[in-house]
Amino acid sequence: MNKIHRKSAISQTSDLILAAHKQGEDLLWGRYERQLPLCAFTDNGLSCRKCFHGPCRINPFGDEPSLGVCGADRDQIVMENLFQATLAGVLETARFGSLLNGRGSVQEFPPLESDLPSKAQKKLSAAGIVPVRKEQLLEVQNSYFSHKGYLSKTLMDLTRLGLIHYRWLKEISALLDKLPYGPPLFAAEGANILLVGYPPLDLLPSLHQQAGQLGRGKKINILVQGEAGLSYLPAIADYGTLELALAMNLDALITTPQASWPALEVLAPKFGIPVILLEGAKPVDEIASQAINLALRHRLRGSYITASRFGPPDSYQGKQKSVLANPGRVKEAYQAGRIQGVVVILGEANVKQTFFERTLILMENCLNKRFLVLAGGQLAAQAAPLNEELKKRLAGRLSSLAVEEEIEGLSSLNYFGSFYEIPKVVAFLKNLTQEEGLARIPVAVAFPEFFRAGVWATAVTFLSMGFAVQIGIPLPFWGSPALTEILLKEWPKISGGTFLAAPSLPSPQEQAQELIAFIEAQKEKRRNEASDP
Ligand code: SF4
Repeated sequence: MNKIHRKSAISQTSDLILAAHKQGEDLLWGRYERQLPLCAFTDNGLSCRKCFHGPCRINPFGDEPSLGVCGADRDQIVMENLFQATLAGVLETARFGSLLNGRGSVQEFPPLESDLPSKAQKKLSAAGIVPVRKEQLLEVQNSYFSHKGYLSKTLMDLTRLGLIHYRWLKEISALLDKLPYGPPLFAAEGANILLVGYPPLDLLPSLHQQAGQLGRGKKINILVQGEAGLSYLPAIADYGTLELALAMNLDALITTPQASWPALEVLAPKFGIPVILLEGAKPVDEIASQAINLALRHRLRGSYITASRFGPPDSYQGKQKSVLANPGRVKEAYQAGRIQGVVVILGEANVKQTFFERTLILMENCLNKRFLVLAGGQLAAQAAPLNEELKKRLAGRLSSLAVEEEIEGLSSLNYFGSFYEIPKVVAFLKNLTQEEGLARIPVAVAFPEFFRAGVWATAVTFLSMGFAVQIGIPLPFWGSPALTEILLKEWPKISGGTFLAAPSLPSPQEQAQELIAFIEAQKEKRRNEASDP
């Protein structure tokens, strides 16, 4: 506990961690520390357990073993691990899409070419990668291992996967927009139910209906995970892990069969929070009334382990989200010199780094350079504490930007919600980058912290659509120098995407400088092109 300040850059987190500690729980940080030291083979992508001859591992220093039992070498094993991580991330999203609309999932995607920035579209067409089809999830070439001669071509399969992932995100976004629910509401005095995993759609109307009947005027909030926040349910502001939400005023937990965080089911009862498991056999009305009754009873007792309360999770969204619908205003601001570029920051806290520190350093540096910043995923759910911390670091500069918002109609820092808003982000970025010459705005997408394969697949999606992507976690793919070369050199040729990542992860400050240098170099390139057409 004496290293508590290293666990999160958000100061409110300390009380929650200490309260959990008093209950005898050290949460994910303790479980991580008991994993150390991490296996260096696996950490570099040099181990394989794809078949039952294995698991096999490759010596990273050139000694034996240099081949797996089947003969696969380090390049093939690392590439396969990269490929499987990307596929797992795409399937994570596709499963939710199928759950939302089972019949829709077998229908073919509409063409995506019109969503692509024009340069990416030309390159991807020339490479024969577009159009993409859903069934290509099963057709990608390295169904077992990439042949040595096919290694660089595997990146074309990854690009296909990235585009298929985009189509799934777009399909989900369209389905959610059609649902007959209003924007998310949150009542500070209400009982709080957290829904983990993807719920069957008939559970939601049932929960709302029973909340009205059983609540007898008492408010009930149904909250979801920040990274998967749905447009009609508020995302939980949990300071980076759902385990911390258990130490706030949570009144009941519903977990679905695909729920992440297995620890929650065990931890919640220890913190006195009732858990409702969504089982196939139970009618949804029964689950909904059980959850509402348990939450109301818990709320009456008011037995929370800290005095910390959930804030309104969407307080910084709303009108700021509208920046996505106003690329014209952003272009005007760029041409007038009020902003210098656009940076999208996506992700979620990762136990290997101080929660949100790298994100905050990127935000701080970008705002100081007058870049327009858009943050999403779990970061959007933590908008209030992130902004509070930024205000301290920028020493009042953020409030002057808020004044600027009133004058110019544009805020420098914007939160846009969950990953299902990404198609709107892509349309926005495409609009900013389709101009010619000096009017073309330099943009980059940064993932300073994340842990899920679905987030990695989203990074691949942006690379596949021709954007620049910066990664801020140590990736488990650096055990093959040949693959590193392929990742850094081939993506610009295939889609125009630029991958800003390296085997030795830079410090957060160095990474912020890299991002700034990239945006400034793009601007300089356009200036030179304009002066020497
Ligand atoms: S390296 Fe080859 S033999 Fe070893 S686990 Fe992987 S697939 Fe099986």
